[in-house]
Amino acid sequence: MDIVFNGDREAGIEYIKNLQSKQTLDFPIVYMSGRDDINARLEAVRSGGTAFLTKTFSLQHLKSILDNIIPLQNEANFKVLIIEDDKIAAEYCAAILEHAGVEVAILDDQKDVFDKIIEFDPDVILIDMYMPEIDGFEMASIIRQHQTFSSIPIVIMSSETDVNKQFKMRSIGADDFILKPFQPSHLIDTIFNRIKRSKHTKYMIYTDGLTGLMLFSKIKAQVQTLMESCIRYNLDYSIGLIDLDYFKSINDKYGHLAGDQILREFSEFLSTRVRKSDIVSRYGGEEFAIIFPYTSGENAVRALNSMRESFARRLKHSNIGEFHITFSGGVASITDYQDLDDLLLAADKALYRAKGSGRNHIEIAAK
Ligand code: GH3
Ligand code: MG
Ligand code: MG
Ligand code: MG
Repeated sequence: MDIVFNGDREAGIEYIKNLQSKQTLDFPIVYMSGRDDINARLEAVRSGGTAFLTKTFSLQHLKSILDNIIPLQNEANFKVLIIEDDKIAAEYCAAILEHAGVEVAILDDQKDVFDKIIEFDPDVILIDMYMPEIDGFEMASIIRQHQTFSSIPIVIMSSETDVNKQFKMRSIGADDFILKPFQPSHLIDTIFNRIKRSKHTKYMIYTDGLTGLMLFSKIKAQVQTLMESCIRYNLDYSIGLIDLDYFKSINDKYGHLAGDQILREFSEFLSTRVRKSDIVSRYGGEEFAIIFPYTSGENAVRALNSMRESFARRLKHSNIGEFHITFSGGVASITDYQDLDDLLLAADKALYRAKGSGRNHIEIAAK
C-alpha cells in the first residue's frame, strides 16, 4: 500500500485503518512510501503494518521482506534443534513445533552436539537450563564459543524465575528465554521471532544497501567452498566479472541518482536472468560477479552474451533524455584455474581485454 495519494499525505494509512475498523485483516500489510518520517512509520504500525519500504527500494529488498513474511505465515521450512534431558519434555516441545510446521531434531547425546548442528543445520537451538551432564549454561557457552556456530540463535527454557540467572544466560550469548511451563503459542512465537530477527540480521550483513545483492566480499568463503566441491566432484564452475561501460559519463551526464537507479535496475535484470543455482553479487562500484556453478566457461560466456545483447537493447529513461548502456565481461573457469584468487584475477584480465577491444563484449580467460 502506498501512503501518499493525490497530495493526501496519509491516504493509504487511512484507507487501511478504515478497512481494519470493518473487519480484521488477516494478511500482512506492507507499506511503501516516499515518506520516511517518524509519523508515517508510527501511523503505519498503528494501522497494523508489518513492513515499511522507503522508495526507491530494490526488488531484492522487497523479496527479502516477502520471504520473511510469507514463510512465517505458512510457518514452514524452519529447523529447530532441541537439547533437553527430559525425554517427555523434549517430545512435548517437538510436538508443538512440528504442529506449527517446523522441522525438529532432538539431540540424544550431548557430546554429539557439534556433529548434530553440522548435519541438521538448525535455524534455532532450544536448550533446557537444567541438565545433569552439561547444563544449559555450559551448552550455550560451548556453542557460542565455536566460531562457525556463533550466530545461530539460542533460546533457553527453564522454570528458573531468578532474574539474575536469566541475565547471566543472556550475558553468555543466549538470545531469548522462555519460562516453563509455557503455552504452546508462546514457544512458537518465541522461536519464530528469533528466526525472523536472525534472518533479517543476516540479510543486513551480507547484502548491499543500494542493490540488495549480496556483497562478493561477504560471500567469498561460500564461493570458495562451492568451487572446491565442484573441483572435488569434477563438475564445471565458472565466474564472470562484469562492468558497466562508460559509467562515469552516465553519472556525469544524467546525475548520480540516475546512476544509482541504473545499478538497481541492472542488478534486478541480472538476478532475473540467471539460473536458480547461479549467484549474482556486487563486486565493487559498477562491477558485478556472477558465480556459475556446474557451468563451463563457454556456457557462461554464452549466458553473459545473451544478457549483454538484451540489456544493450533496453532504453533507459531519465529526465534529460533517453539513452542506452552496455556492459563488458570476463569469464574464467576451474578448467584452467583451481585457486579462487587466480580465477578472479584471470576473469579480471579477460574483462580488461574486453574493455580494450571496444567494450560491449565478453572475453574468456585461457591459460
Ligand atoms: P569503463 O567502460 O572503462 O568501465 O568506464 P567507466 O566510466 O565505467 O569506469 P570508471 O572506473 O572510470 O568509473 C566508474 C564509475 O562508476 C565512477 C563511479 O563514480 C561510478 N560508481 C561507482 N559506484 C557507484 C554507485 O554506487 N553509484 C553511482 N551512481 N555511481 C557509481
Ligand atoms: Mg532438565
Ligand atoms: Mg565501468
Ligand atoms: Mg569499474
